[in-house]
Amino acid sequence: MTTTTKYIFVTGGVTSSLGKGIIAASLAKLLQAQGYRTTIQKLDPYINVDPGTLNPYEHGECYVTDDGAETDLDLGHYERFLNVPTSQANNVTTGRIYQSVIEKERRGEFLGKTVQVIPHITDEIKERVQILGKSGEFDIVITEIGGTVGDIESLPYIEAVRQLKWDLGEHNAIVIHLTLIPYLSAAGELKTKPTQHSVKTLMESGVQADVLVCRTEHELPEDLRSKLALFCNVREEAVIQSIDASTIYDVPNLMLKQGLDKVVLKKLGLESATPDLTQWNQFLKRHKNPVTEVTIGLIGKYVELQDSYKSILEAFIHAGAENEVKVNVEPIHSEYLNEDNIAVKLSHLNGILVAPGFGERGIEGKIDAVKYVRENNMPFFGICLGMQMAVIEYARNVLNLKDANSTEMEAKAANPVIDLMASQKDITDKGGTMRLGAWSCDLKPNSIVHKVYQANTIMERHRHRYEFNNKYKSDIEQAGMIATGINPDTQLVEIIEIPEHPWFVGVQYHPEYKSTVSSPHPLFVAFVKAALKHKNKQKGVSMAQK
Ligand code: GLN
Repeated sequence: MTTTTKYIFVTGGVTSSLGKGIIAASLAKLLQAQGYRTTIQKLDPYINVDPGTLNPYEHGECYVTDDGAETDLDLGHYERFLNVPTSQANNVTTGRIYQSVIEKERRGEFLGKTVQVIPHITDEIKERVQILGKSGEFDIVITEIGGTVGDIESLPYIEAVRQLKWDLGEHNAIVIHLTLIPYLSAAGELKTKPTQHSVKTLMESGVQADVLVCRTEHELPEDLRSKLALFCNVREEAVIQSIDASTIYDVPNLMLKQGLDKVVLKKLGLESATPDLTQWNQFLKRHKNPVTEVTIGLIGKYVELQDSYKSILEAFIHAGAENEVKVNVEPIHSEYLNEDNIAVKLSHLNGILVAPGFGERGIEGKIDAVKYVRENNMPFFGICLGMQMAVIEYARNVLNLKDANSTEMEAKAANPVIDLMASQKDITDKGGTMRLGAWSCDLKPNSIVHKVYQANTIMERHRHRYEFNNKYKSDIEQAGMIATGINPDTQLVEIIEIPEHPWFVGVQYHPEYKSTVSSPHPLFVAFVKAALKHKNKQKGVSMAQK
């Protein structure tokens, strides 16, 4: 294959949220499916060192990698599409760039020099871009530049792209520019002006787009493509339309039809072949032709924003396809749940998932929901905070420890069944200090999880500060809730189950981060299966009542 790594930059114009992440992931999929070792990284132009301190309402879900990086949710798409793990090096923010330059300045690495945006910040960006390329693990690195070309905060990144294109030389680095082609329904017309201006803005910074990907609601006619090619200095074959798709998983095929992979490989001086998308297309076929459906309640406090639970929603899509079931996810706001309305809100569901989260808001609703599903034998899946709520509910209502709580919610709880780990007690900084990344976990033989994973030890990704308090373990186990997953080094409880219940599993880690198209997460697959079984039982009961 190639000897030098090739670089593809993906920039966006006019408005962000054009789906740069999905285009980057789809192109990467097409290149990977032709045998090119491909990875994607995201450069985010905000000043937070990482998105870990951001509220999901600000930036959607925070995605966690094996090496414990708290990253942008686009990395989740990269992993789901490519089935290759990402790492700290795959997400860089302006905050991290500046932090690193300032640390170097303090160490005296620039002694005698004035430290400036150009060349010091741009050099740092260039170095970060090439870390993955220089590792020798990849033939092609796709770098997605977050934000919008023309914004003040994007300038150093675009300048770094200009320099890198120059340094690396022809055929080694190209720029794909994503724009919006708005449709004016009153005039019945597609408008190219915003694209022309966005390409011009990019050129003002000395960067010529090599490929245009145009987001549109309607097919781009031939004459419009020629016009775009003429005005934007790109070849007609390099004007690619990205038409609205019913699922993001259709985008690789749509890009293939448009020839995006061919154009890109030609510009990089690489050979193209027909990508092998057999497995991908088998998934799509199952996803689009479900035999039946189930409805899962997703109980959380950020449910208004789809992006807050992105990886969970995608994991349900993978698990649904695996089971040939359409999974309808019904978002339920935990703040509006209470003992009086719980049956009305939950009884029609086939299973519930209590979501991860932080802070006190809405937690009593989550506890009421756990009680309802536990007592009504409805499949339950608790993730991180969801698992902690299941432990609190069990302690309160089965062990009769009415004041059981997590010290996150009540610092002086009389029965802190969920408590801060000893290693967390002296930590004051909030950024990057949780238990993060992949940790191993031993599974108890004959448990649900042992059957589901078909393994004795697993590795799963974490993002939390609080833990199951081992002081209560034997009492809780004697009452019927069993710890079926234990961290072998720390003895921390990672999984709880109730063997008496048809399917009641709570996990301290985040399985959703590891679910991909080619390897759906076994816990989600098993939970959907359990929900289907429950649905058939519910149907049986209602038939018998008729
Ligand atoms: N807030 C809880 C903790 O910090 C749970 C975190 C989560 O759900 N990711 O332990």
